[in-house]
Amino acid sequence: MDMFLTGTPQTLLDILDNKEERERYKLQQLAEFPTCQLVSIGINIPGDIKTNESIEKVFNLATEAFERYLMDNELIIRHVRKKYNPTGPEFYTLIDSERNDIKRLCINFETFHQVGRLLDIDVYQRDEAGEMLIIDRDFYNLPSRRCYVCQKPAKECTRAKTHSIDDLRTKINKMCQSLI
Ligand SMILES: [Zn+2]
Repeated sequence: MDMFLTGTPQTLLDILDNKEERERYKLQQLAEFPTCQLVSIGINIPGDIKTNESIEKVFNLATEAFERYLMDNELIIRHVRKKYNPTGPEFYTLIDSERNDIKRLCINFETFHQVGRLLDIDVYQRDEAGEMLIIDRDFYNLPSRRCYVCQKPAKECTRAKTHSIDDLRTKINKMCQSLI
């Protein structure tokens, strides 16, 4: 099983344009729902192919499980949006809550769900000045994420390009095998 046989290669410019677009969208959502916390999910796919039918299927299964997980934790979901861009699928939800453990719940999901380690789940809220504030691992003094191939800090492996695209894809294919 190989998830990477189809898809449209993305350039660095495509990815940077998408990053700007995502920032704009998040700001706009928080402006519209200023008392909510915003959760954004992307899937971290190495290489120039960022999406195709298999990747979208895995992403949809994971985000559907995430929505159920939020509800199981008694969180009130105000708004959900999914986008299927050639740069990769995106999921956004606004949560109506002042609870300060939402990021921690997201980290748990990244840890225990079968493909959670492929997901980037970010949590944002508006500060008093109306600026977008990211609630990250530092906020809870939690250690950084581990690489899903070798368990070292993921940032180190990304920076040093420790693993080839082929090795990363092989690992992702294994993680997703039973889902597609
Ligand atoms: Zn590694």
